[in-house]
Formats: sequence, C-alpha cells, structure tokens
Amino acid sequence: DEDVALLGRSEDDLDALVDEGPLPVLAVIGRPNVGKSTLVNRILGRREAVVEDVPGVTRDRVTYEADWAGRRFVLVDTGGWERDAKGLHLRVAEQAEIAIELADAVLFVVDATVGATDTDEAVVKVLRRSGKPVVLAANKVDDARTEADAAMLWSLGLGEPHPVSALHGRGSGDMLDAALAVLPPISQVGGGYAPGGPRRVALVGRPNVGKSSLLNKAVGSERVVVDEVAGTTRDPVDEMVELAGRTWRFVDTAGIRRRVHQTRGADFYASLRTQTALEKAEVAVVLMDAGTPITEQDVRVVQQVIDAGRALVIAYNKWDTVDEERRYYLEREIEQDLVQVPWAPRVNISARTGRHLDRLVPALDQALESWDTRVSTGRLNSFMGELVAAHPHPLRGGKQPRVLFATQAATRPPRFVVFASGFLEAGYRRFIERRLRETFGFTGTPIEVSVRVRE
Ligand code: GDP
Ligand code: GDP
Repeated sequence: DEDVALLGRSEDDLDALVDEGPLPVLAVIGRPNVGKSTLVNRILGRREAVVEDVPGVTRDRVTYEADWAGRRFVLVDTGGWERDAKGLHLRVAEQAEIAIELADAVLFVVDATVGATDTDEAVVKVLRRSGKPVVLAANKVDDARTEADAAMLWSLGLGEPHPVSALHGRGSGDMLDAALAVLPPISQVGGGYAPGGPRRVALVGRPNVGKSSLLNKAVGSERVVVDEVAGTTRDPVDEMVELAGRTWRFVDTAGIRRRVHQTRGADFYASLRTQTALEKAEVAVVLMDAGTPITEQDVRVVQQVIDAGRALVIAYNKWDTVDEERRYYLEREIEQDLVQVPWAPRVNISARTGRHLDRLVPALDQALESWDTRVSTGRLNSFMGELVAAHPHPLRGGKQPRVLFATQAATRPPRFVVFASGFLEAGYRRFIERRLRETFGFTGTPIEVSVRVRE
C-alpha cells in the first residue's frame, strides 16, 4: 500500500519526493483506430480498455500518471478525439501539433496491418518540424507472422519501428524502454523549473471567461520576461509576470493566447490544455464569468484542479458587468454549484477595468502556503485525540471503530493517513476533514484523508 510505504521514509525523503519537479510528458498520437486508447490502457496496466464509440465524446481525463521500470511519467491520451471528423487528414495533423507542443516526447502509433497512410505521412511532417523525440509504435503486431508489416514502417523515416500488440501486450516492454530512453528526467515543456524559482500559476477556465484578457492586463502593466530555454519548443510556453514586486511563472500561456478555433472537439482540447497546464502548475486561478450563470464546464474545471491536487483560487471576472440582481443570483449559484470548495479564496475582479487585480496575489500566497503546510505528527495526534474524545465514531454492530494514530504523509497538497481499528464511515471521514480545515486552515488547498484499517 503506497501511503503506508511512504510512512517508513524520513521527512527529508518525503520532501525530496514531493520536490522532484514536474514529471516528463509522453503524448500518444496517431490516427483514429490505430489502437492508441488500447495502448494507453496497456501502459497504465488497466485490465479493460475504455472503449469510446460515440463520436465527439470528450473524456474528462486525458493525462495520466504512469510508471515503467521505476520511472514515473505523464501520459497524454489523445485517443478520445472524435473519430468521424470530416477532413480527418488535416485534423489528425492538427491534433498532433497540439499534443507535441505539450509533450517532452511523442509515441507515434501506426497500425502495422494497414501500413503508412497519407494521414500518417502528414503527421510525420509535423513531428519532424517539432524536433521532439519520437518513438514509433507499430501496433497490432499480434504474432511473429506480422513482424514483417512492422518493418515496412521504416519507410516513414522515423527510425526503428517498435512492433507491439496493444491488445495482447506483446512488445510493449521494449517499446516503453525506448520511450523512456528519450524522455528527460524532468519535464522541459514548461521551460524547465529551477527549484525555489518563481511559483507556477495556471490560469484556467472555460473559453471566454477572460483568461487572455487577464494575462494581457497582468503582463501589460508590468515587466515581462519571455522565457527562452533552448531546445524546448518553438514558442515560449510560459511567461514570467511581475506581480506585487515578485516574479510569477504563468504556465502554458501559449495555450491561452493561441486559440484553437474548432467546433467539435473544442471541449476536448480545452480539457487537455487545462490538464497539462495543471500538471505544470502549483496553483491554479480558475476564472469564471461572473456576469453569466455558472456552467457545468466551470464546475468541471474546478474539479480538475482538485483532482490534480493543485492549490486553488477562484476569480470571478467581468465584475464590471455584475449588477445588484446578478449578484444575488451569483451568490445562490455559488452556494449550489460550488459547495465542494468553500475553502477556495475568492476574488471579484475585472480584467477590463483592472478592478481588484491586486487582491490576486494575497489569495495566491494564502493558497500556496496552505498547499505547502506540514502539520507535525505530534500536533496532529493531539488534535485527533481531542476530536475523537469529544466525537467518538458511532457504534457499528456493537463495535466501536477507534482512531489509533494519524500522520501527514505528504504536502502539496497535504495528505493525511488515519489508522483506525475498524472501518470509518464516509460521514466520519468528512467530519475529520472538516475539523482539520477548521483547526489548521488549509484555505485554498485540497486535502486528502485516507484511512488504513489495522487489525
Ligand atoms: P484509437 O482510436 O487509436 O484510440 O484506437 P482503439 O484503442 O480504440 O482501438 C481501435 C480498435 O483496434 C479496437 O477495436 C481495438 O480492439 C483494436 N486494437 C487495438 N490494439 C490492437 C492490437 O494490438 N491488435 C489488434 N488485433 N487489435 C487492436
Ligand atoms: P478567454 O477565452 O478566457 O481567454 O477570454 P478572453 O480574454 O478572450 O475574453 C473573452 C471576452 O470577454 C472578450 O470579449 C473580452 O473583452 C471580454 N472580457 C474579458 N474580461 C472582461 C471583463 O473583466 N469585463 C468585461 N466586461 N469583459 C471582459
């Protein structure tokens, strides 16, 4: 059990683990039906492949943490991309372009039983231009007889084709070894981060909430340093922004500035952008359009931040458009739709007029401080002792599950492990979480409480 395994390590070890930097990113790209999703599932070790037969369906999660041979990396799955688009040829190349921009290396999947198609050739052109390392997976080589099909793919000029059967697992180890050999130890797509450098902020939110306006306002009023790290991407991906006398790294701003004009599939890209920006960030500012009702997509973005374990600030933008009546409804919507994040600092801003932009930095500071917080085991257990004495767990079948001990297993975000003599009900776990927040703050950070039952 991973959390328990962590407990055997010293605090320094834990901190080293936490601070090792952003994981390298491997993007899996290729035409529809070549087996990308099957391969992603294979790499993640999932037994059942997620099959998405509905065109245009978007997946919430597109990046996954994976590991192979003791190394951890981030896998970007573009397999959820719509399958029946017109002008597919062009779209796949476009998809590749975006995925490449977000990745340290690319796993290019080709169906060996079909061979290289014109679409594959178009993708190869994009890959060449990017200069990113590419590993060529010749998929659907289910047995030795089809190995020759794989060899035909040398013609793509991408080097050795790695024959693999995503379906049966054949060859996937060698292919992953090759992919890991070209992945850098720490992600370079953000330009590379020096430890102790500027804090990394992701500006996220559904389209048209004002992300690029806010960025322009923040950048326009202050000094900007365009990040130029050789050998990364053609365009600067991050921007250094001076706010309140300090430098902040706004990650993946290229993704905000370069709008992908698409009708179908746009949600998928928006989600992919958000996900990859979050991977690189420490704290996220989720922008909402305060002038219009909160949407499902807004809520989904907030959930993505929580799932990614990043610190969170919510900024209600376009405050200049909010009147008395709208304000009333907005407060009701917040109560209803954002009940899961009463702990997120809130700022009401206007990127257009500049209103209250100065309140962003204190909110970011507060969220990051909470995100970094470590509660000593001593303090945590005296807190637990008092809590349990005053509010014991309800009896279950005549027995009383007891909390034995608790410790904070990680920071960024804070993760707690509670050891108990029996199963703790979900309600009681939420109660512990609520009390942890009341006692220790944690404004602006998700926290996690997991329970281990000791016999
Ligand atoms: P994607 O559109 O690229 O994500 O492709 P999928 O992963 O959805 O796979 C498309 C089809 O190819 C599915 O019917 C898979 O079962 C099949 N497939 C994927 N990998 C293999 C493989 O290694 N061998 C064979 N024979 N079929 C495969
Ligand atoms: P993005 O898609 O999230 O990057 O959103 P944009 O920055 O492109 O903004 C979308 C639209 O909202 C543009 O027409 C902006 O001018 C407008 N907008 C952005 N911020 C504000 C604001 O604070 N007040 C008002 N009234 N409009 C804004």
